[in-house]
Amino acid sequence: MTWGRAAAIHEAGHATVAYGIGVRGLRAVLEPNGGGFVVYGEPGTACAGQRREYDGAGDDYAVTASMFTLAIVLAGQVAQGLAGLDGHQPWYEGGDRDQIEGAAVDLVEVLGAPAALAPRIIRCGEQDVTAWLEQSWPAVMRVADALHAEQQLDGARIATLAGPLPRPALTTLQNVARSLWTRYGARRQRAAVVA
Ligand SMILES: [Zn+2]
Repeated sequence: MTWGRAAAIHEAGHATVAYGIGVRGLRAVLEPNGGGFVVYGEPGTACAGQRREYDGAGDDYAVTASMFTLAIVLAGQVAQGLAGLDGHQPWYEGGDRDQIEGAAVDLVEVLGAPAALAPRIIRCGEQDVTAWLEQSWPAVMRVADALHAEQQLDGARIATLAGPLPRPALTTLQNVARSLWTRYGARRQRAAVVA
C-alpha cells in the first residue's frame, strides 16, 4: 500500500462521515507532500433538521455540534484502523489527536461535566464511528479510490460516489451525553436558578 492510497482512505473516512452528517462546503484534498485534509462547514449548521434526533442533553445546538465534530475528526483514524493501516501514518497523529481531544473537551464542557471524562467521550465516539463506517465501508472505499485517482473531490462528487447512506447514529455518544447532562449540567443549572 502506497502512502497516497493510505492517505486517501484516511481522508475518505473524514469525508464520508461529514457527508453522512450532512455538513455543507465539503471538500477532500490529497497533498503532493503526503498529507491530506478535509474542509467542511460548521457541523452545527447540519443540525437544523436533526436536532430532535440528538437532543435530550442540555444545550442542544452546542452538544450536537460537538458530537458531530468529534465524529468527523475521529473518522480518519477509525477508517485507517478498519483498513488495517494503524501505524502506517504517524504523521496524522498530531493534528487529529489535538482536534479529537479538543472536541471531546468541548462536549464535556457544554454538558457541565468534569474534563477528566473526555477520554470516556472519545471511546464512545469511536464505538459509534466504527459501527457506522463498517456499515458504510463500500462507500468509504469508493470515495477513497476516487480521491486517490483525482487528488481532490468536492461535496457533489463525494455525494455521487457515496450514494445514499444512513445518517451516523451516534447512539453511544448521545446516551453518555444524556447521562452526563443529568448528572452534572442539569444539576448545575437548577442550582443556578435557585441562587
Ligand atoms: Zn485526519
